[in-house]
Amino acid sequence: MDIPICEIYPTIQGEGFLVGSPITLIRFQGCNIYCSWCDTKYAIPFKEEVKVPLKEVLKKISQIGRKHILITGGEPFAHPVLGDFCQILIKEGYFVQIETNGTIWQSVFEKLPRKGFYISLSPKYSVNYKIDPKFSQFADELKMVVDKHLTLEVVLRKEFLPLVEGKKLILQPEGNKEENLKRALELLDKLLKMGFYARIIPQMHKLINLP
Ligand code: SF4
Repeated sequence: MDIPICEIYPTIQGEGFLVGSPITLIRFQGCNIYCSWCDTKYAIPFKEEVKVPLKEVLKKISQIGRKHILITGGEPFAHPVLGDFCQILIKEGYFVQIETNGTIWQSVFEKLPRKGFYISLSPKYSVNYKIDPKFSQFADELKMVVDKHLTLEVVLRKEFLPLVEGKKLILQPEGNKEENLKRALELLDKLLKMGFYARIIPQMHKLINLP
């Protein structure tokens, strides 16, 4: 089994509910969509030559020694190997967090132990926030990037509602910009008035200059 690796390094989770956790970040090379504000554009093209044998990947993450693995991209679910890779990591005792744009599902996750993996869903404006409906059931957090495009109507779409009602909604101001924080506060206010709940969480790694 070969894994499409862009980069692997130890760091601190900078986004979402698990912010601050010590992690080994595994970035997959290759994304199925294109977002103009993507801050990892170097990980968008699919490249055959970056594939690394599983054994080498396991050796590297074991040397780093952190039990929380973050698989990000690129788009991890755009790679058929993701499911088998996660299954092996879980068996090896790792906790696997996956960040995804939510456009592609892999049914193998329906059979994996639920406590072993954590899905961080971040739907994208570039595909009109379209997701595979399975993520409504399996996502552990719904991370909405707040910019001029995100509206209350989008957040309350039927595919997102189970996650919003489950208090899994995170409003993440795009680029930590002041105007987007203002937008997030306005959205939060509207949601609270309707009886919903959300948290505003900025990108912590950018505040403290981590990669
Ligand atoms: S889905 Fe993520 S990796 Fe892909 S282009 Fe958008 S921001 Fe970049």
